[in-house]
Amino acid sequence: MTTGKDKQGKSSSDLKPGANWQKKSVERQKLYKQFLNRTDKNIILNQLPALHEQAFEKIDCLQCANCCKNYSPRFKTPDIKRISRHLKMKEGDFIETYLVLDAEGDYVVKSKPCPFLGADNYCSIYEERPSDCHRFPYTDEDVIVKRQALTLKNSTFCPIVYYVLEGLIERK
Ligand code: SF4
Ligand code: SF4
Repeated sequence: MTTGKDKQGKSSSDLKPGANWQKKSVERQKLYKQFLNRTDKNIILNQLPALHEQAFEKIDCLQCANCCKNYSPRFKTPDIKRISRHLKMKEGDFIETYLVLDAEGDYVVKSKPCPFLGADNYCSIYEERPSDCHRFPYTDEDVIVKRQALTLKNSTFCPIVYYVLEGLIERK
């Protein structure tokens, strides 16, 4: 999936993987759901850019990589074309080597962590990464309110989503 790995900021220790925020996020799923259902969408969208920026200043994706370790982006046709060209592989060989179809009929990685994630948490195809990775965690998009189930799930493993949701609730 993901990431803003070019946006390195100071990492905040209480937002590191495994820290207390993950427990708190699980406990607050109902609250997040109610908040997203009841709050004016435009109020949320107005506050997103600043909170998104702050979250990426506080949280260093290179210290996390939860998304790349545990979830797969969808590899759409343009992603497959671009990445296989970059790797100098035939598209069919690229698919056979790295991808599998999921229940929704999308290509996803065969194994996790993502095979393009390095031990240093850098993405080896960063410039060519799938569009899903580029957009994740959607904290600067209306996806955050439109796809609530996805937002809630993402808040349990992505400290940036957690930070943004908590910020939105605090500012309400
Ligand atoms: S392609 Fe790169 S950014 Fe996307 S999941 Fe794999 S390692 Fe992460
Ligand atoms: S889970 Fe969130 S904070 Fe962690 S690497 Fe992915 S986008 Fe960054």
